[in-house]
Amino acid sequence: MTNNDDILVYRLGATCDLSDVTEGSIYQGKVQGFANFGMFVQLNDRIKGLVHKSNMRAEHKEKDTVLVKVRGIRPNGNIDLEEVIIQVYQVQNIERKSTIVRVSDLKSRVGKTVAIEGEVAQIKQTSGPTIFTIVDESGTQNVAAFVEAGVRAFPEIELNQIVRVIGEVMMRNNQLQIEADVVTALSGEDTTAVRERIDKALDTRAEPEDIPLLVESDVMERLRPEMRKVAKIIRKAVFVSQPIILRHHADADGICSAVAIEQAVVALIRESGADFDAENYLFKRAPSKAPFYEIEDITRDLDFSLKDHVRFGQKMPLVLLTDNGSTEEDEPSYKIARVYDIPFVVIDHHHPDATIDKYLIAHVNPYHVGGDFGITAGMLGTEVARLINPKVEPAIRHIPAVAGVGDRSEAAERARYLDLVKDQYPEAACKDMALALDYEQFWLRFNDGREIVKDILNINGNTERHTNLVALLVDGANTMIEDQMSACMPHVVARELSSGAKVFLIDVEIHAHKFTFPPPGKTSGEVHDRLCKANPGSPVVTIGFGPDFAVLRSRGVLMNIPRMVRELRVEIPGGGISGGGHLVVGSIKFVEGMREVVLEALIKKIGEAQVQK
Ligand code: MN
Repeated sequence: MTNNDDILVYRLGATCDLSDVTEGSIYQGKVQGFANFGMFVQLNDRIKGLVHKSNMRAEHKEKDTVLVKVRGIRPNGNIDLEEVIIQVYQVQNIERKSTIVRVSDLKSRVGKTVAIEGEVAQIKQTSGPTIFTIVDESGTQNVAAFVEAGVRAFPEIELNQIVRVIGEVMMRNNQLQIEADVVTALSGEDTTAVRERIDKALDTRAEPEDIPLLVESDVMERLRPEMRKVAKIIRKAVFVSQPIILRHHADADGICSAVAIEQAVVALIRESGADFDAENYLFKRAPSKAPFYEIEDITRDLDFSLKDHVRFGQKMPLVLLTDNGSTEEDEPSYKIARVYDIPFVVIDHHHPDATIDKYLIAHVNPYHVGGDFGITAGMLGTEVARLINPKVEPAIRHIPAVAGVGDRSEAAERARYLDLVKDQYPEAACKDMALALDYEQFWLRFNDGREIVKDILNINGNTERHTNLVALLVDGANTMIEDQMSACMPHVVARELSSGAKVFLIDVEIHAHKFTFPPPGKTSGEVHDRLCKANPGSPVVTIGFGPDFAVLRSRGVLMNIPRMVRELRVEIPGGGISGGGHLVVGSIKFVEGMREVVLEALIKKIGEAQVQK
């Protein structure tokens, strides 16, 4: 029930600018500070004016609410105010229906003041301004807010909040940036509406393109829905600036799988308009030393992620495991990750244990659809990479062939992938790349060697350097392999089993060079290859063992190594047994004092396995 005689006092909304201020009108304001010539009064977060001391009517302190009349607006935008004291008045809010601009449309607004709405994906304090990374349904935008050098602006704004930013669009170092006047957290209904809008749009944007596989494959055709799901999860992580950690088995197949995905993700990060160095802090590829995601790996990943979260306001990561991750050996790490709600995605071709799927948000594995390890991680990774970002296909289409020969795949797909690239990379070239990857990873140890590995796979486009590097690495690897074989082959001990299988034992601890290339697993593999050649037509199992481990390879013996390991664990109390791997290629660990018992029991089990004639 307002009286018409009441005096109107205006209150400016957050989005109002100078054009909403009228000379002669009265506004409600807040005392911002004092100078010896008067006091500054804010009409909203962006607009302030000066009340000269001759126009002050009362004593005030900072943040007092005052009523002021606009005496004049100068050409430079300065506002002269005069304090007024009124007892009875009516307040009217002035809201500017500022149209919200989509991040992808900012390019055409340079020099203009705009409003954007989105989720805070990162808050980074620099030595100058605070940088907020805002994600909306169309893209990612950095917003700089400055109070004082190195001081956090808008400290009330938190990660993952839905906010409205008002500021000027600028070009900084060739990148669009908004210099924020105001960053306000939206509340209640507004938040829900914006979040829904963003989620819906992101969902559509993250949907992978519907493209056919590189080669014909029934198994991968059946895996397509899960591959699409993984691609979508990864695309979405990129669009919301969630860091991605890509962990992989440190052999040629694992590296191939991870490198294909790396190309797709890094290119997508660049395209989505994030910071020029975003590909370095939002994506990390790292090999796992063990053939599984061990506690050391999760501990390291967690340690770095939590520190980045606290220091740079980064989101917690999405972790993607390839050529690793589908067995119960990974479970202890998943349990730790779960405490921190870290989502996991797995692309693997190891025989999966059903117990681990509860830890994963997606899991591509040929065993789920009646396939087996012949579809290697590098094949799966490359197909997923194409779904993440089809543009990188020309650079990665030879990678499945390299992975296939590296992992000695016997699936029909191996030949199809080789055929696809035979003009540029014949089988011998693919084998060389695979060997070069294995050899180089030995020297890289825990490092990803991003650019060296790209040269080995000829992704950097410098073919001359690629050719020289691979030739040199292959030469180095072969020399060391020959050296190792001439030392250990004379020490191989043969056993004939009643099943007709031949078991060969080699103590790689005392009859092979240690801490060198090839390491025990690969050494056993090389020994196995030579024994297979020397025993054509016979089922062959090679056991390379050390004090507390054994590595198994087999040809023509239908073993199930993960199951044998599980049985031995029960049958030999005090054996300290663990391990796993593929059905016919795997490893087992035990305590040193029980080695003879475990090896004999293992050989007995091998003797019980069916042989192929
Ligand atoms: Mn593999």
